[in-house]
Amino acid sequence: MTIRQVTEAAETRLLCEFASRSRNSNGRRSPESACPVRTIFQVDRDRILHSKAFRRLKYKTQVFLSPEGDHYRTRLTHTLEVSQVARTMARALRLNEDLTEAIALGHDLGHTPFGHAGERVLAELLPTGFHHVNQSLRVVEVLEKNGSGLNLSWEVRDGILRHSKGRGVLSGQGCESLPSTLEGQLVRLSDVIAYVNHDLDDAIRGGLINSNDVPTVLRQALGEHSSQRLNTMIIDLIETTMAGDYSCVQLSPEITGHVSELRDWLYVNVYRAEAVEDEFRKASRLLRELFLYFIDKPDELTAHGGRYEKHEDMETAVADFLAGMTDRYAMNLYQKLFFPQPWKPL
Ligand code: MG
Repeated sequence: MTIRQVTEAAETRLLCEFASRSRNSNGRRSPESACPVRTIFQVDRDRILHSKAFRRLKYKTQVFLSPEGDHYRTRLTHTLEVSQVARTMARALRLNEDLTEAIALGHDLGHTPFGHAGERVLAELLPTGFHHVNQSLRVVEVLEKNGSGLNLSWEVRDGILRHSKGRGVLSGQGCESLPSTLEGQLVRLSDVIAYVNHDLDDAIRGGLINSNDVPTVLRQALGEHSSQRLNTMIIDLIETTMAGDYSCVQLSPEITGHVSELRDWLYVNVYRAEAVEDEFRKASRLLRELFLYFIDKPDELTAHGGRYEKHEDMETAVADFLAGMTDRYAMNLYQKLFFPQPWKPL
């Protein structure tokens, strides 16, 4: 018996009956021989962690554009917080923690530089539109490893593709296209639990709002501090999901209402705040100009690190290049291409 087989047997004993078991995975698109040590989901988690797209999350905006302070979240720390929140609940619910972690670490790999501002610009420029969720899947299926992709398991790809809620219904009735696994559903809600808490925390840190500005009803129901609010949401999700016999991963109607209200409040007071939008308008212009610069220059695109395959259209190649950039890479490239450079002796 290999170490992997021992772990798979332990999953059978320890996980709840509704959990995903790595032994029962639908597998990979291109079959591979199994690792003697790690389960299929552990392998996927490691592939994502070691990918270049994962490392680039470090310099991508979460809410504030290239913040000067070291304590603000970036897309990487957001991802790690989602992963930790999700793993805590996975363990409590006896779901597959490795699958949960793999989906969480991969869920935002397709995010553009400059957060949702970058996403909006690409959506306008591309005839087929653009959404970070589809791009996350494209990163793991096609773009990583110089075009060969990571060949992840079906369950991890399903969880990445269906993690987003936009501003739609969080849980309960009216939820559409939920991930097929409970672990995917768990990451979907962990994402919103993580971001409403840390974005609120960062907005207070950045002086955009004061903690007393948060509506009293929400502070009373969810807690005054970030750790209290996290606890309220996490415990509610665990208890409600268990009480519902694992029919889906869900928050209670009461907490769903409060989380939705907090999210709506953040849209008005933080995400759409004038001070935040001002910088995003500049970032949008920058990305638009880069797009128009590269759209008819395949050689320039490849010279600057992009990929262009002859069977693909140029819009897709430029979008892949721009979406993959970090904030600082995009700003440096813009300077290099459009600003006069000081003369250096040859
Ligand atoms: Mg996210």
